[in-house]
Amino acid sequence: MSPDASAPARRYADCHMHTVLCGHAEHSIEEMVATLEASTLAGGIVTEHLPLPDEVDSDRVVSMYPGELPSYVMALQILRERSPLAENLVIGAEADWRDVDPAWTARSVADARAAGVEVVLGSVHLLGDWAFDDPNRVDLWDDKDIDAVWEQYFTQWCCAASSGLFDVMSHPDLVKKFGHRPRDPRPYYEQAAHVAAEAGVLCEVSTAGLRKPCAELYPAPQFLAELAQQQVGFTLASDAHDKSEIGADFDLAAAALLEAGVTCQAFPKGDGVIDWLPLSLS
Ligand SMILES: [Zn+2]
Ligand SMILES: [Zn+2]
Repeated sequence: MSPDASAPARRYADCHMHTVLCGHAEHSIEEMVATLEASTLAGGIVTEHLPLPDEVDSDRVVSMYPGELPSYVMALQILRERSPLAENLVIGAEADWRDVDPAWTARSVADARAAGVEVVLGSVHLLGDWAFDDPNRVDLWDDKDIDAVWEQYFTQWCCAASSGLFDVMSHPDLVKKFGHRPRDPRPYYEQAAHVAAEAGVLCEVSTAGLRKPCAELYPAPQFLAELAQQQVGFTLASDAHDKSEIGADFDLAAAALLEAGVTCQAFPKGDGVIDWLPLSLS
């Protein structure tokens, strides 16, 4: 059977998507994969939140249960066997950098890779015990010095980026999620871009920020320009928690990358293999 010439060319890969397993997303693994297959995307990575310790997520509202990792991986392996996306459906996970216990983070990532996870995203959601991006704990910002939080965030971000544990750094300036901005963010951007380049870790351009109070891509234009200047590679990410968000606003993300002189997106496949997909606007 010849390919349908009228079908739109598949482009972009969505490298960050969630399922019901994390306790705060809407759709099953099967529904997310079916939506990805029916889209015009070239592929994607399902990246569920890895289990967190009970003291961080006792109600299991931000991460999968510890026992769910093997069945999560197996479900994706089975779906991939019969998927038209084939190797362009990648098994991933999102890992938390825990500044209070980096060795725990390393064990968590090692367990995930041993279970068959191919691509691991590194995320800083926690500063100590504070999930600073949690809408239910946003009031804690009121007592904070914004510059001090940014300093702490980027210190931990740089530790995570240089740890060698992660393939991609998620939503690189998540600290701005609720619109808290420091007096001058440039030193943080410069340091982070330098560290990411040295470490050879990819960074996301995440459209999730457009749906949050900061109303901006992660990373901010100035940060993206700094990363591009340092030759850091970029994935595209929706951070979809609902199937309707898969691939959302990717033309805007591609335009931001092209504006910064970046002409391809990275699509990591595991074991250090990266496909480079040309960026083009419709
Ligand atoms: Zn995240
Ligand atoms: Zn996520």
